[in-house]
Amino acid sequence: MDKRETTNLIKRDQSAVASTIYRYTDIAFQRGQGVYLYDIEGREYLDFVSGIATMNVGHSHPKVVEAICEQAQLLIHGACHIGYMEPYIAMMESIKSVAPGDLKNGKGILVNSGSEAVETALKLARFVKNRPMVLAFTDSFHGRSMGALALTSSSPLYRKNLTGLLSGVYHTPYPYCFRCPLKHDSPDRCGIACLNLVEKALETVVPVEDLAAIIVEPIAGEGGYIVPPAGFLSGLREICDRHDIMLIADEIQTGFGRTGKMFAVEHWDIVPDVICLAKAMGGGLPLGAILGEAEYLDEWPPAAHGTTFGGNPVACRAGSVTLEIIKSENLMQNAEKLGDYIKDKLISLQKDLPIIGDVRGKGLMIGAELVNKDGTPANEIIKEVIKEVASQGVVLTKCGASTIRFAPPLIINEDQLNEGLDIIIGILKKYQW
Ligand code: PMP
Repeated sequence: MDKRETTNLIKRDQSAVASTIYRYTDIAFQRGQGVYLYDIEGREYLDFVSGIATMNVGHSHPKVVEAICEQAQLLIHGACHIGYMEPYIAMMESIKSVAPGDLKNGKGILVNSGSEAVETALKLARFVKNRPMVLAFTDSFHGRSMGALALTSSSPLYRKNLTGLLSGVYHTPYPYCFRCPLKHDSPDRCGIACLNLVEKALETVVPVEDLAAIIVEPIAGEGGYIVPPAGFLSGLREICDRHDIMLIADEIQTGFGRTGKMFAVEHWDIVPDVICLAKAMGGGLPLGAILGEAEYLDEWPPAAHGTTFGGNPVACRAGSVTLEIIKSENLMQNAEKLGDYIKDKLISLQKDLPIIGDVRGKGLMIGAELVNKDGTPANEIIKEVIKEVASQGVVLTKCGASTIRFAPPLIINEDQLNEGLDIIIGILKKYQW
């Protein structure tokens, strides 16, 4: 197959774009439609990544395109500090209408990205509580800006040579039960020891009166699509209530229907004090948010925080329409049904395919952790798998060291899912021992 155009583009990229912008595949995308992507040479790919869990309603959904075009004709940018813009307010109202529990009466701020949402939540927590410390978890990803990066702990690569990030951040282990950080053999018997380690930290190194917030991903995303055991998140809620600590849920990857519920905390009936949002929220345009208890947001004085582009009207229109589509096209139900289907299929294959060490996740946020013969993470094999899968027309990435990340658009149907799964499984069958 002729790949000259792609080769030329990659050459241009190499002389103009920094090498730190890593690519999992050599695909040069030109166009997207529904669950499909097309490269500059016209090849079609099934998208199993959704632009990193972002295109929940699929590529170029006609209603999203229409809203973007309509708003672009009216007003592209106004800046939220100069005056009021209806699309900004409507976007916040849309988020509130689907928020869990008391957050339905909350207030929020619109920003441009996930990292910025986390920065905003961090600043809010420290300001309102007037306490300097934040507790986060290992295997977490909260962004790459300096404050958010101080929380992120899914790879040492992100922090190399950057010692001296935000001070006052303390990490305890996330309950990654397949590779238990405490080497327990079953989550049923450990008594959620990871929760006990939070308590231990509060008794030994983190004075509770200095702790502003605990920030947690309800399902660890970049860390490997790790689902915590029942009791972990409710335990954190209880600790936060007991010590008047703000509980911040980072739903940037899990939010907006991805896990089969609007927000992943709903799987455990937890209501955080603040929720961080981005990714799918803008329907593909850069948009993020925090939504928190009104009493907290009301304490932040005018102009203490702000942004030029945050809540850009075009992104807001795309975002409000995206939320409508998630509800009206029953995408959460589809995510739940097809997510269970993927999990069942992969679990049934595990005995014949020992490379699949663990299958986990909720909705269309499913991870299949690949392992070597000795049980170690198959971090070299997974790179080959991603490249091979791409050459057969499926776009895939990993999370954690060696977990295949299944995060297709939530509009995917069973035939499309099977088409991609068959290709992936066919490739995994080459790794037998
Ligand atoms: N939090 C989570 C849970 C994420 O998955 C990500 C991005 N992968 C971020 C924060 C950072 O978002 P962004 O890349 O938009 O800054």
